[in-house]
Amino acid sequence: MSDFPEEPAIDLHSDVYFMQQALHEALKAYERGEVPVGAVIINEGRIIARGFNQVEMLKDATAHAEMLSLTAAQEAVGDWRLTDCELYVTKEPCPMCAGAMVHCRVRRVIFGCPSPKDGAAGGGFVNLLQQPALNHACDISHGVLADDCAALLRRFFQEARDKGNDLQRQQEDSGRLP
Ligand SMILES: [Zn+2]
Repeated sequence: MSDFPEEPAIDLHSDVYFMQQALHEALKAYERGEVPVGAVIINEGRIIARGFNQVEMLKDATAHAEMLSLTAAQEAVGDWRLTDCELYVTKEPCPMCAGAMVHCRVRRVIFGCPSPKDGAAGGGFVNLLQQPALNHACDISHGVLADDCAALLRRFFQEARDKGNDLQRQQEDSGRLP
């Protein structure tokens, strides 16, 4: 046996760990009947903001997990510039959220599953996070816990379909189904 201490079971600074935290936020949305997307924002290795999709609860189409967490992070940092921050989100961001991330100058964006129809971070129809014409570009990592992130979304939409809920059709029409 080595005299060195064992590696920790969980690397608290790994992408997987923070994506698990984002998934935990997505579960909060799921439990409230919202499309299950969650986000966390990290600064210097610590979570400074969390958010989950609340479009139905707040009756606000802009209340995506990323937007809510960006607002909370700006409050925590005391600045609109999130230059030293990383944003983890369970699903590839939409154009609105990707635009907001560029405005806030987020350093890196890590998403779980891609969103082929409305994704705006390179997995979907456009990559707004890395547009040469804009004055900021975010680094991108993707595919972290992608299966878990997508499975939660699929379960939500399947249950909505089983209930004959209009929401599922609306979301499919607007391209939010991965
Ligand atoms: Zn969005």
